[in-house]
Amino acid sequence: MGKEHSAVSGALSESALEYASIDSIGGTVSSLRATFASGQTRSLDFRKQQLRALLAGMRAEKKALLDAVLLDLSKSAIETDMYEFSAVEFEIGLMLENMDKWARPQRSWLSMLQPVFLMSRSELRREPLGTVVIIGAWNYPIRLTLLPLVGALAAGNTVVVKPSEISSHTAVAIEHMIGKYMDQSVVRVVQGAAHETGELLKQHFDHYFYTGSGGVGRVVAKAAAEQLAGVTLELGGKCPAIVHADVGDLTPTAARIMWAKLTNAGQTCVAVDYVLVHRSVKDRLVDLLKEAAVGLYGESTSKSPDYGRIINDRNYKRLKDLLDRTEGTTIFATEDGFDEHDRFFPPVIVDGVQDSDSLLTEELFGPILPIVVYDTLDEAIAMVNSRDQPLALYVFAASASAQHVLAQTRSGGACVNDTMFHLASHGSPFGGVGPSGVGNYTGQYSFNAFSHHRHVLLRPLWFPSPGIDTIRGAPFSGPENEWKLKLCRPMAYPAVRPLRDSFFGRLVTFFPLWRLLAILPGFIVALFTAKPLIRRRK
Ligand code: NAD
Repeated sequence: MGKEHSAVSGALSESALEYASIDSIGGTVSSLRATFASGQTRSLDFRKQQLRALLAGMRAEKKALLDAVLLDLSKSAIETDMYEFSAVEFEIGLMLENMDKWARPQRSWLSMLQPVFLMSRSELRREPLGTVVIIGAWNYPIRLTLLPLVGALAAGNTVVVKPSEISSHTAVAIEHMIGKYMDQSVVRVVQGAAHETGELLKQHFDHYFYTGSGGVGRVVAKAAAEQLAGVTLELGGKCPAIVHADVGDLTPTAARIMWAKLTNAGQTCVAVDYVLVHRSVKDRLVDLLKEAAVGLYGESTSKSPDYGRIINDRNYKRLKDLLDRTEGTTIFATEDGFDEHDRFFPPVIVDGVQDSDSLLTEELFGPILPIVVYDTLDEAIAMVNSRDQPLALYVFAASASAQHVLAQTRSGGACVNDTMFHLASHGSPFGGVGPSGVGNYTGQYSFNAFSHHRHVLLRPLWFPSPGIDTIRGAPFSGPENEWKLKLCRPMAYPAVRPLRDSFFGRLVTFFPLWRLLAILPGFIVALFTAKPLIRRRK
């Protein structure tokens, strides 16, 4: 394993991960449900206390958390701090700063195009969902477990956190941190593998948030369906990078692709999985990709303290097997070969890969970069579209070509002339589409994902009751009741459009007041002349 390991505390070198007993899981969830039912978490001050406790715990246990990731993935502490720890810290700050605003009921007057809503107001309340479960993944074990937790707490839920047992050291460090610094009646950690997670999924949750493979994603979605609860599924897929002939500068292109391939030894859900490159620039790109690998980790990647290791033997063998079966030409990007004992997998470029190759069958999740050549942009687009929608799509091309690719493809997110950086923005949603995921999160999107959007209609009782109450229901028959339809149905958009599209129409419809005035006389007459549904008793 990586050289930095000797600096890691002895206590962590042997993972002390203990799985929850199956019998205890129901009780843990019930106690969190009881806390939620008490109404405690509705208070914004209470939620902020939870977030501050999480921040304090993370800061106090920072070394233990970073050391744990080093033991699990041999990732450099700076990389973990940059991509995981700081991202969660930032998210907590963002929530504390904005949650008052995001939680405030959004009031608005109802559309003037629906006359029946005259004098009514609409309120959108973002309310907690209840007790939610967050099932984390191992490749960025701090980020993928704690980032959704921030949103869940800010939105006022009680939470069960299930870290991935595969990154066992980090799972222990997270449990220790949450147990020591956070209110156990609000957030609890349940440890375990498939068996324990299966038991957890049998419990009644109000939302299921899962990060990992599509196979387990289906298991989680079925569990949520049993409870008729919502899901957020953060899944994976094969993310392509298209490099077109009109790209311009290939040097930054190669650097950005290789960075995305080798970060965390390729074990990143939005890593470039394969490159689709125009024939005219292929050779130059391959040369530059090799240079980029050396530039990032040196001639001997295995000696770099910054290059990660494959998480476990199972994944190492899977990658080796995929590479053994390829019909492309394997090019070692640096001078190292394989070291199975250390789970060191060198950066490998595979040239001349055909559509049917073993490397294009499943998500690689490792430092193997297949290169597929195309002749026309539409050919590249067709190759992308013949597979599941990816979590991310990268296109390196002149603006018109890039726009053409974006218009013809689907993906969770995308970058033009860059890779992976789109998920660094906490102001934008992160998530997949179709087989790469359901729903999204980070920043306000997390707050929304863990909230119920409750629409409340507020209307006064004093407003002409005979009219308002008579409009809504039977009797409908007879010409004397035709006015109900006219006033009750929304003014159809096609009907207002010709008016709106003329200059005069724009002037008039610009002000809602004018629109209101146009319908008001008929409406008021109807309101006051309608026969009351129930005669008032004297
Ligand atoms: P996984 O899907 O095997 O496991 C993830 C979690 O599911 C673990 O907590 C595990 O205990 C639990 N689990 C495993 N088997 C289960 C079962 N049968 N029943 C119930 N629970 C079970 O994790 P993985 O496949 O190693 O993760 C890699 C995948 O995750 C890749 O496809 C990657 O792209 C994707 N991923 C996506 C994101 C994202 O943000 N979209 C992030 C990281 C990883």
